[in-house]
Amino acid sequence: MDAVQQTARSAGDAALAGLASGPAGLSAAEVRRRQAEFGPNRVEAARREPLWLALLREFSHFFALILWLAAGLAFVAERFEPGAGMAELGAAIVGVIVVNGAFSFWQAFRAGQAIDALRLLLPQRVKVRRDGATVEVEAGELVPGDVVLLVEGDKVPADCRLVESWGLRVNLATLTGESLPKARRAAEGEGGDPLQARNLLLAGSLVVAGECCAVVYATGMHTEFGRIAHLAQTAGDAESPLQKEIRHVSRVVALLALGLGVLFFAIGMAIGLPFWANFMFAIGIIVANVPEGLLPTVTLALAMATQRMVRRQALVRHLPAVETLGNATVILTDKTGTLTQNRMSVRELVAAGRHQLAAARWPRGGDLHLRAVARFCHSLKFVAGEAAGDPMEIALWRFAGEVPALGERSGEIPFDAERRRMTVTTRGDDGAGFVWTKGAPESVLPLCASWDDGGVSRPLDDAARAMFRRAHEDMAERGLRVLALAWKRQDAAGGEIEAGLALSGLVGLEDPLRPDVHDAVTRCHEAGVRVLMITGDHPQTAVAVAREVGIVRSASPVVLTGDMLRGMRPAALQLALDAPEVVFARVSAEQKMQVVQALQRKGDIVAVTGDGVNDAPALKTADIGIAMGLSGTDVAREAADIVLLDDHFATIVNAIEEGRAVFDNIRKFLTYILTSNIPELLPYLAFVIFGIPLPLTVIQILAVDLGTDMLPALALGVEPPGPDVMRRPPRPRGERLLTWPLLARAYLFLGPFEALGALAAYFCVLLAGSWNYGDMLAAGDPLYRQATTACLAGIVLAQMANLFVCRHPAEPAWRFPLTGNRLLLAGLATELVLLLAIIHTAWGQRLFGTAPLPAEAWAVALPFALLLLVAEEGRKAWCRRRCRPA
Ligand code: ATP
Repeated sequence: MDAVQQTARSAGDAALAGLASGPAGLSAAEVRRRQAEFGPNRVEAARREPLWLALLREFSHFFALILWLAAGLAFVAERFEPGAGMAELGAAIVGVIVVNGAFSFWQAFRAGQAIDALRLLLPQRVKVRRDGATVEVEAGELVPGDVVLLVEGDKVPADCRLVESWGLRVNLATLTGESLPKARRAAEGEGGDPLQARNLLLAGSLVVAGECCAVVYATGMHTEFGRIAHLAQTAGDAESPLQKEIRHVSRVVALLALGLGVLFFAIGMAIGLPFWANFMFAIGIIVANVPEGLLPTVTLALAMATQRMVRRQALVRHLPAVETLGNATVILTDKTGTLTQNRMSVRELVAAGRHQLAAARWPRGGDLHLRAVARFCHSLKFVAGEAAGDPMEIALWRFAGEVPALGERSGEIPFDAERRRMTVTTRGDDGAGFVWTKGAPESVLPLCASWDDGGVSRPLDDAARAMFRRAHEDMAERGLRVLALAWKRQDAAGGEIEAGLALSGLVGLEDPLRPDVHDAVTRCHEAGVRVLMITGDHPQTAVAVAREVGIVRSASPVVLTGDMLRGMRPAALQLALDAPEVVFARVSAEQKMQVVQALQRKGDIVAVTGDGVNDAPALKTADIGIAMGLSGTDVAREAADIVLLDDHFATIVNAIEEGRAVFDNIRKFLTYILTSNIPELLPYLAFVIFGIPLPLTVIQILAVDLGTDMLPALALGVEPPGPDVMRRPPRPRGERLLTWPLLARAYLFLGPFEALGALAAYFCVLLAGSWNYGDMLAAGDPLYRQATTACLAGIVLAQMANLFVCRHPAEPAWRFPLTGNRLLLAGLATELVLLLAIIHTAWGQRLFGTAPLPAEAWAVALPFALLLLVAEEGRKAWCRRRCRPA
C-alpha cells in the first residue's frame, strides 16, 4: 500500500469512527435507534407559499380585480340610484368572486396534490452496508453512520464523507449550478466549505464516474441540499408554453369583454336607455365574458393527464412535458430493453469452426477457453449465489456452467461503449496468468492473432476472418446480438494486455421483442410520429430488429453508423435524415445528442430515450427526455422529463396520446364556454334593435356563466383521449389554441342555435301572456319574470345538449360512453339541479328574478335543445363525408 492509499485509508477509518460506525456498517438495532433520533432522510418540499396566501391569490389576480372593480361600481351606483337593483348586482358579483376563487383554489390544490403524489412513486434506492452485509434500502431510510456504496450513475442520497473511492467524479449542478464534473477522493481533514471539500459527497449531486464507499454524516433537512431547498422558497414553477398561451388567450378575451361592455354602454346611451340600467348591463356583460375558469382548468387538465399517464406507467417529472409530448414528431428510441425485453439467451455458437445452434448448456469438448471467457469475463455481482447485473452477461455466465477455476481475478478493463469490449485477467496459485476478452466482433477480431479449432490453435488468416465475418453477418441478419470471445495466456514479460489474443468463437444472443411493441410502432405511424432506432449494436442486427418491430418496412433503409456520423457535417446529417427510414447503429451516447440537434434543426419535436450517464446531455437537449425507471441510472432520470416505470416503448406512445388529449380537451372546454356568450348577447341586441323587453337580465347571465356552466366545462377539460387522437398527424408547431374554425363553430353555429331556442321560449311565454309588440314590462311583472326565466332555461337546456356535442369536434357524440367521464355526469346533474333551484326555490327566485315556468315553455325549450344536438351532429356528418378522401 503506498503512502497516498495509506492516508486515504486512515482518513476513511477516522470518518467511520467519527460517526460511531465501522466497515461492516451499523447494526439493525442501531439503525432503528438513529432513525428515531434523526428522522427520515427526506428533504421536505419547501412549500412555496402558505395555503392562505394561495387562497388570497385566487381573489387578487387580474380577473378577480376586474370583478372587484365591477362590484365596487355597482355598490357606488346603488348610492346614486337606490332601488334599481345595483346592490343585488354588487352582491352577486362578490358571490361570483367567492365561488370562483374557492373553486380555482380547489382545482389548484388538487392539481398540486396530484403532482406531489407522483414524487413518491419512484423512490431512490441505495446500496448500504448493514450488519456486515450489503443490502438495498430506500434512500429515505438512511441515518448518519450508514455506509453507502455508490457507483457511476447514482444520485448521492445524503451528505457523506468518503471512506474509499476509485476514479470518482461528481456533478454538483443541483447545488452550485456548475455543470463540469469535479474529482472527489478520500483524504484527511479537509475543513471549510463543504461544497468545495474534496472528501465530501453532497446529497443531490450525481456520480458521473467511478465508485466509492462513503459514510453518511447528515440526512434530510440537515444536508446542504436541504438547507438550500429551504432557502430557495421563492423559486416558482416555470410556466408551460400552453399556460402562457392560455394566459394570453384569456387576456385577449377579457379585453374583448371590456370592449363589448363599453360598446354596449355606448349603444345604450345612444338609444336613450336610462343611465344606471345601462351601466349595470355593461358591467354584467364584462363580468359574464371574462373567462375566469380558464387558467385553473388548464392546470387541472395537465395534472389529471399526468395522473392518467402514471396509471399507464409514464411518470411525468415536469408538467409542461405533457403538452410537448402531444406535439412530438419523432421518437428516437434505444433498442435493448425498450423495444426488446433485455432478457438475453444464447441461441447460436460458432466454435471450433462450426456454426451450431446452442443447446441448453455449452457443448462439451475442446471449448474450455470459450466457456472460461463467458464465465470469467463479466462485471456481475453475486448476491446469495445469484448473479446480478447485465442480462447478457448473466446469460453467458449461466450458459457456460461450471468451469474449473483458473485462478483469482487480478484485474479488469471494464466495458465501455466506445471500445465495445471488456477484459478480465486472472492469476492462478501457480502464477499462471490469463486474459479473457469479450466484445463486439469488430472490436475483438483485430486483436486476435489465432483462433481455437477444437483445441488446436490456428492462425487467424484472411480465410478464417472471412469465415467468422460471414457467420457474424448471418447471425446479425437474424437479429441476434453477436459477441466475440477471446483469450490468451498472459506472459510474464507484460506487454499489451489485449494484443495477440486467440479467438475462441462467436456467440449469437437473442433478446425477444416486447410483445406489443409492433402495435405501438404502427400506432406511431398512424399518428404521423416518426420512429428512429438508435443503438450501440451492429447495423445488421439493428436493421433486423427494426424490421421485426415495423420501424423499417422498405427493402433498403438508410443505416448511419457512429463512424459515419463522426465524419459528417451537421448539414449532411440533416439531409440524410430526410430519408423516410433511418437506423442508427454502433452509435455512442454522445452522438445521440448530435442526432437530436439535427432533428431539431429540421423543425422536429424530438422525444429521446436514454438510461446511462452519457445519455444525460441528449435527454436534456431533446424536447422530451425519457429515462428508464427500471434499468436507468439516477443521472438519466434527473435529466429526463418523463420516466418510464416499465421501460417499455409502448408506454411512450400512450403518453403521447395523453399529451394530445390535453390540448383537445382545452379546445372542447373553450368551445363550450364561448358558445353560451351568443345567447347572452343576441337577446340584448334584440332588445336594442327591436325595442322588446330585455329577454335576459344581467344576474341571469351570471347564473349561466359562473353557475351552471362551471362543472360541465371542467368535465370537458379532463376527458380521456378520444379514439382518433392517434389517427391524425401531430399538431403543426405554433398552431394556436384558439383557431378560426373553433370560434366559428361556437359563435356562428352552436351559439345562434342556443339563442334561437332561448328566444323562442321567451316569446312563447310572452305571447301566451297576451303581450303585444311594443308593450314594455316592469322588472317585477310576473309575466316578465316568467319570460326571462324561459330564456334562461332555454340556454341552460341547450348547454346541456352542447355538452354532448362538444365532446368531439368531428365524431358523433354517441361514440363516447357517458361512463368514460364521471365528472361529466356530475356536471350534467349539477347543471340541472342548479337550474331547478334557480327557478323553484324562494331564494333562487329572489336573487335571479325568476318564476316557475308553464309547461309550454319547457315544451318549446326542450325541442330546441334537441335541435342543436341534431344540427351539430348533421354538420359533423357532413364535414366527415366531405373531408373523407374519395
Ligand atoms: P442499445 O442502445 O439499444 O441499448 P446496446 O445495448 O447494444 O444498444 P451498448 O450497450 O452500447 O449498446 O453496446 C454496444 C456493443 O458493445 C454491443 O452490441 C456489444 O457488441 C458490446 N457489448 C455490450 N455490452 C458488453 C459487455 N458487457 N461486454 C462486452 N461487450 C459488450
